Amino acid sequence: MTAAPRPDRDWTAFAALFGDIPTITEPALVKQKSRDFYWYSPVLKAQMNKVFGDIVVCPRSEAEVVEALRICARERVPVTVRGAGTGNYGQAMPLEGGVILELTGLDRLLSLENGIARVEAGKKLCDLEDECLPKGWELRLFPSTRRTATIGGFIAGGSTGIGAVNYGLMRDRGNVLSARVATMEAEPRVLCLTGDEVWPVIHAYGCNGVITQVEVAMAPAWRWADCVVAFDDPKTAVRFGHALTASDAIVKRVVTMVAGPVPTQYFKAFKDVIPDGASVVMTMIAEGLLGPFGDLVREHGGALCYVRRPGEPGDAPPVYEFGWNHTTLQALKVDKTITYIQTLFPAPDHVARIEAAIDRYGDEVPMHVEFVRIGGQIAAFGLQLVRYTTEARLNAIMGELEAAGNPGFNPHTYVLEDGGMKQIDALQLAFKRRHDPQGLLNPGKMRAWWEQPAG
Ligand SMILES: Cc1cc2nc3c(=O)[nH]c(=O)nc-3n(C[C@H](O)[C@H](O)[C@H](O)COP(=O)(O)OP(=O)(O)OC[C@H]3O[C@@H](n4cnc5c(N)ncnc54)[C@H](O)[C@@H]3O)c2cc1C
Repeated sequence: MTAAPRPDRDWTAFAALFGDIPTITEPALVKQKSRDFYWYSPVLKAQMNKVFGDIVVCPRSEAEVVEALRICARERVPVTVRGAGTGNYGQAMPLEGGVILELTGLDRLLSLENGIARVEAGKKLCDLEDECLPKGWELRLFPSTRRTATIGGFIAGGSTGIGAVNYGLMRDRGNVLSARVATMEAEPRVLCLTGDEVWPVIHAYGCNGVITQVEVAMAPAWRWADCVVAFDDPKTAVRFGHALTASDAIVKRVVTMVAGPVPTQYFKAFKDVIPDGASVVMTMIAEGLLGPFGDLVREHGGALCYVRRPGEPGDAPPVYEFGWNHTTLQALKVDKTITYIQTLFPAPDHVARIEAAIDRYGDEVPMHVEFVRIGGQIAAFGLQLVRYTTEARLNAIMGELEAAGNPGFNPHTYVLEDGGMKQIDALQLAFKRRHDPQGLLNPGKMRAWWEQPAG
């Protein structure tokens, strides 16, 4: 893996080629912008610690993106696109150095009509939602990094998150309606992809095009109350999480289940709230439906130990910052030996599958699941914590779960296909062949590219 600065090029002279387009060559800043959350994984941390780019280019418009790509294609310099750099699989790490193309300057909401937002790719998700809320619309899906991540980075580097309980995966038809994508050809073009044409660039790590603009469907806005429900044992919490997800008339945005003792060990903001050792379900409920929600909690023997209505003061971060990948982050803040794995517990027997995994691994792999809807059915994504010992043990756990019929999404690899897809995506590869013929976009991430037959 490339680990040293490339002395063969005068990067200051190279920066001058960009004229008015802002660039950064100051080494400390370039190094900082070369990082994402790869260190989340002890495996990636060891592999990628010395990876960095050579220069940051910061276009402010689609025209400047095209101009920057033209220069890089001509000079044969690799380009790794960057949103906010919150990807946690090393997606945004420039393996072969070169240009980091930071898109946060493309940050305008261009229109919001009929619940469809047209927005530039570098816009932060929190800003997008803040601008849409006064018109009655909110994000359908967002990662737990909502307060920092960009919409382009989420579409290119993420998969789903808060809202999945209603709207499934980012890639599901109807979530991303169109995208403008700049190509990495000698004369870069801007493609306007609509409908199913957007699939090749969703979750492609920016390996086959640079998304400059997207149209995404929004959801009617609700006033959300943050809630935490405590249970004496994890299996009751799992059953409650399923029952809440299945209660279609109780409007919710996220259903996160975390097994004890993790909440009292690691969720410091709730240390005076959650009973010692309890398992919890953390959720966002439409404020007007807290009554029936409370009835469901009682039916399952839970204790509603925290409710924060919208606008109420309080020091705790939003509950979604304890779910999805943030569960691991909260744990890592306290215990650096923690890591995690990702497992799909598929429908229809996801509850029994989760219970079997709780029995099998206990506190070595504390259970954390997010309830979701996939293809109209309820299922659960596990983002279980792991009390890490060795890479071999980590792989053994992932292998066993997979052998038991629970597909894994390995978060300890930066290779696109080795994470969740497991197979070459012919659409993504064909798109890259057409639009990045020199293989300059985010090199080293797409297995399909280096394994394709010659010719
Ligand atoms: C604590 C934590 C919690 C997280 N929670 C979630 C979660 O709930 N759900 C989830 O899906 N992910 C989650 N992630 C992963 C990550 O935050 C999300 O994927 C996020 O949306 C990435 O946005 P970003 O702007 O930081 O993208 P970056 O990290 O900057 O980029 C991500 C990838 O997309 C590429 N890229 C960025 N912008 C573009 C563009 N405009 N065109 C083409 N390619 C581009 C980059 O090259 C990179 O490969 C989490 C990560 C952390 C550290």
